[in-house]
Amino acid sequence: MAFWFNSDRERGLVFAEAFARDLPDLPFAMDISEYDPDEIRYILTWTAPPDLYRFRNLEVVFSIGAGVDQFKPGTLPPGAILVRMVEDGIVRMMQEYVTLAVLALHRKLKAYIGQQADAAWLPLPVRQAAQQRIGILGLGMLAQAVMERLKPFGFPLAAWSRSERQVDGVDCYHGSDGLTPFLARTDILICLLPLTQGTHGLLDARLFATLPAGAALVHVGRGAQLDHDALIAALDEGHLSGAFIDVTEPEPLPPEHGFWRHPKIILTPHVASVTQPETAARAVIDNIKRHRDGLDPIGLVDRDRGY
Ligand code: NDP
Repeated sequence: MAFWFNSDRERGLVFAEAFARDLPDLPFAMDISEYDPDEIRYILTWTAPPDLYRFRNLEVVFSIGAGVDQFKPGTLPPGAILVRMVEDGIVRMMQEYVTLAVLALHRKLKAYIGQQADAAWLPLPVRQAAQQRIGILGLGMLAQAVMERLKPFGFPLAAWSRSERQVDGVDCYHGSDGLTPFLARTDILICLLPLTQGTHGLLDARLFATLPAGAALVHVGRGAQLDHDALIAALDEGHLSGAFIDVTEPEPLPPEHGFWRHPKIILTPHVASVTQPETAARAVIDNIKRHRDGLDPIGLVDRDRGY
């Protein structure tokens, strides 16, 4: 029985040390050529390696990221379960990034950077936080953690999920019927949805038109959820006031893409949150212990649902 770490060597060395300390009976493989494929029970990877089916005794595929849309249908052996990364490092970084983005949009940072370049000393109107309504698409691990950070500023908070949920201090909406009223009360929209058939292309012209005039977008879900042309049109027409974008399709964007130099867009290269090896190793080791005890791992993916 062995564990295969199929990712970068730098993080692998941190994992190897944690496994040697906390799970010494489980061989830790970074060079798979030294192992009989039948020995491999666990894999940590970003995507499904093309020859995954040769690991006939594979029980668990751990995604090194919080998202699992990169595992295309049919690429995982039916007998193996898929587990997404649920670890404190990802959560904290996402809290930082979304707070940064919301405050930048709330306080018009991009406009002031533009004005500085033009040597223009020009105060712009500012709303109180209590008048800036935040709405999060998604009400999962990351969205809930982000809302905890945004609450103390006094922003009115709402969220939209697939199934009905209740969270203290958050107006909760769900399902297709809940989307329009949720959007209509949202000034800064944050997308923290997994990429599935149900969320592909969701951020489109119709959705932007449903937001109030002057609304802004923070996109940290997945690139394929966003219609780029529709966003640029909504910004250029003035219906949307700004966007903070971390994920695009494709990544990276081509040099001539309209997002790069758009005066109302702040673009980052998919860095909102990155798996931190120290905390991730702890999470994976705990999950292997749970699996050995016959318990479901934390972050078990429902492969039919897609997240
Ligand atoms: P979770 O699985 O914990 O939560 C997903 C949420 O989305 C749930 O509330 C779920 O609803 C909701 N949802 C899913 N499908 C739909 C739908 N069709 N309609 C309405 N709501 C839906 O995910 P996480 O919070 O851990 O992560 C969310 C995503 O963030 C990841 O999948 C990944 O794409 C992205 N991410 C981006 C990173 C970056 O650096 N930019 C880093 C890490 C993650 P319900 O509660 O009803 O199940």
